Amino acid sequence: MDCIFCKIAQHEIPANTVYEDDDVIAFKDINPQAPIHLLIVPRKHLVSIMEINDENKEILNKIIRVAQNLARQNNIDNKGFRLVVNTGDDGGQTVGHLHFHLLGGRFMTWPPG
Ligand code: C5P
Repeated sequence: MDCIFCKIAQHEIPANTVYEDDDVIAFKDINPQAPIHLLIVPRKHLVSIMEINDENKEILNKIIRVAQNLARQNNIDNKGFRLVVNTGDDGGQTVGHLHFHLLGGRFMTWPPG
């Protein structure tokens, strides 16, 4: 499958990895939009959040726990951060493999563009 995040998860293309286990990989976004901008990605190819169902929903728990740990490690847990899942064209999703953006280290405006 020609999926860039599958290739990163399988170490076929390099990434600046900050965490990985059997289910999840997290790495620095190549085009950071904040001082801290990490992507948390399930290894399993799921196109978007719309593919979460009763059989695979545990991955969300795992991703949230990884996000908490990465927020703590980057000292943004107290000041705050944003966890974002762009979904589909109108949601601004450009890579068709589910990923969570963890953004922090600056004040986030609202609403997003
Ligand atoms: O939510 P969206 O699909 O737009 O996010 C994709 C993200 O993946 C972008 O922030 C982009 O910079 C990042 N990316 C990356 N490494 C790649 C390809 C894309 O960090 N090799």
